Amino acid sequence: MPTLLAVHPHPDDESIAVGGSLVRYGRAGTSTHVVTCTGGEAGDNLAGIDLGDRPMDEVRRDEMAAAVEVLGLASHTWLGYRDSGMVGTPENDHPDAFTNADLDEAATRLAEVVRRLRPDVVVSDDERGTYGHPDHVMSHRVTGRAVELAADPQADVEGTPHRVGLHVAHTISREEVQQMHDELRSRGLVSPFDDDQVASFGTPSEQILVVVDVREELAAKQEAMLAHRSQIAEDSAFFNIPDELVGRSFGSESFVLVSSARALDDADRSALATDLFGVVLTPGDGSSGSVS
Ligand SMILES: [Zn+2]
Repeated sequence: MPTLLAVHPHPDDESIAVGGSLVRYGRAGTSTHVVTCTGGEAGDNLAGIDLGDRPMDEVRRDEMAAAVEVLGLASHTWLGYRDSGMVGTPENDHPDAFTNADLDEAATRLAEVVRRLRPDVVVSDDERGTYGHPDHVMSHRVTGRAVELAADPQADVEGTPHRVGLHVAHTISREEVQQMHDELRSRGLVSPFDDDQVASFGTPSEQILVVVDVREELAAKQEAMLAHRSQIAEDSAFFNIPDELVGRSFGSESFVLVSSARALDDADRSALATDLFGVVLTPGDGSSGSVS
């Protein structure tokens, strides 16, 4: 069975980043899985809801369980680290903070999950951590290392070695972000991006490998995002974008190449252009080079 694994640092990242793809591939019969590296303990109660005495990690566990249902995942795994918080906050120094974890130790934990689930495609953050949060950068590094360790028969990792066919990082087309930003501004609406943020956000379109159409899955994606209730303010700019712009900007999910089980040729690239599973890069075809 085709298998997709998405690795993200905090509960809610999976829904925001790749919720549409998880729903789309799940509906198509792919076995879909998510690993969340931290408990999201440092998340602010952005919605200002009454949490009573409940600690944030407990609230976020329940929210994640609700999102897992909406996304229709085959499994969800906590990697067991602590949310490192935004740069410059005291959470950065916590000994269990994900950003302070030993890279190989964290990657070994994840490699065991990879060997158990045996995904064809792995999705993670890009090397800049999408928006620079230290846990997102760490998540990218740990995933890359875990993909290597999972395939390495010499690695001290439980389970049978498994080579992931395709490791991609989710991203957003820089041109589309700019376009949405300009259009919201021209209508006198609030943009989720700052002017200086928008010019460097995301990835130039020509560097993007895969664009998955998720317009059909948009309602489910938004429902999964809203399952993370405490993290989403009702007046969030993301939920107050006019419908016709939502469809255009959030109607697709984009991915760049991190590594593949063999070098991609032009035929592979065109097969992958609109489909993460456009070509399944199964190992053992004699060309197991890794591209970074
Ligand atoms: Zn996050």
